[in-house]
Amino acid sequence: MSLRPRVIELAKDYRKTHAPLTPERLVRGIGASLSYGKLPEGKFGALVPEKNHIFIDQESAPKRQRFTLAHEVMHFLIHNDDDLLSELHEAYEGKELERQLEALCNLGAAEMLLPGEVVDEALARKGQHPRLVLELTELHQVSEEVAIIALAERGPVPSIVLMAGSKPLRVYFSAKHPHILDRVSRGTGFRRDDPLVVASETGLPQRTKTTLPNHAVPYTLEAYPRGGRVYAVYMELQT
Ligand SMILES: [Zn+2]
Repeated sequence: MSLRPRVIELAKDYRKTHAPLTPERLVRGIGASLSYGKLPEGKFGALVPEKNHIFIDQESAPKRQRFTLAHEVMHFLIHNDDDLLSELHEAYEGKELERQLEALCNLGAAEMLLPGEVVDEALARKGQHPRLVLELTELHQVSEEVAIIALAERGPVPSIVLMAGSKPLRVYFSAKHPHILDRVSRGTGFRRDDPLVVASETGLPQRTKTTLPNHAVPYTLEAYPRGGRVYAVYMELQT
């Protein structure tokens, strides 16, 4: 079995064994200790394996903290799964290994907090639309990151899902389907005439064909502005 389904299995088992996944139960499940404090800009949590300790950024929102916790628990679970770990090291190295590991921990964390079946059901009902990020967030009390990861992974058309905010508009968080090669990192900005900027400035949803910032491949974009943020799904063009 490839890495992604195995990571999802690990996360599912953990959820079933330790539900309900309150922060306390999340940490207790791996026998770790937990503390909160200040982390450098852009860092939300850290696992110290030698001390079996998880450190969480005190300034992020509670739902974001819970996602970070689940992410750090996934680091622990993957770290302690010899088969998975050796397969990961066979497939990747260096920076790409790091990137893949982070993406796998995100994937597992999302599955822990938001079961895949729930996401599939929402997708079947409403289609691959950025409104779903908010719907899943509100209905299931998870952070936007969790909903974004799950939608990017499970959407029937391979896509990149992201949220952006601030002025000038920049990317806060994004996730991509494994078949998509383009990636956008946190902090990426947009051209002034980008449809996401238009959505942000007019408050009107946008549906159009466009490219990601700094990329050439065109996608079908659905952009949905709300609460000072823009949620977007960039779907691979269907031929
Ligand atoms: Zn990590």
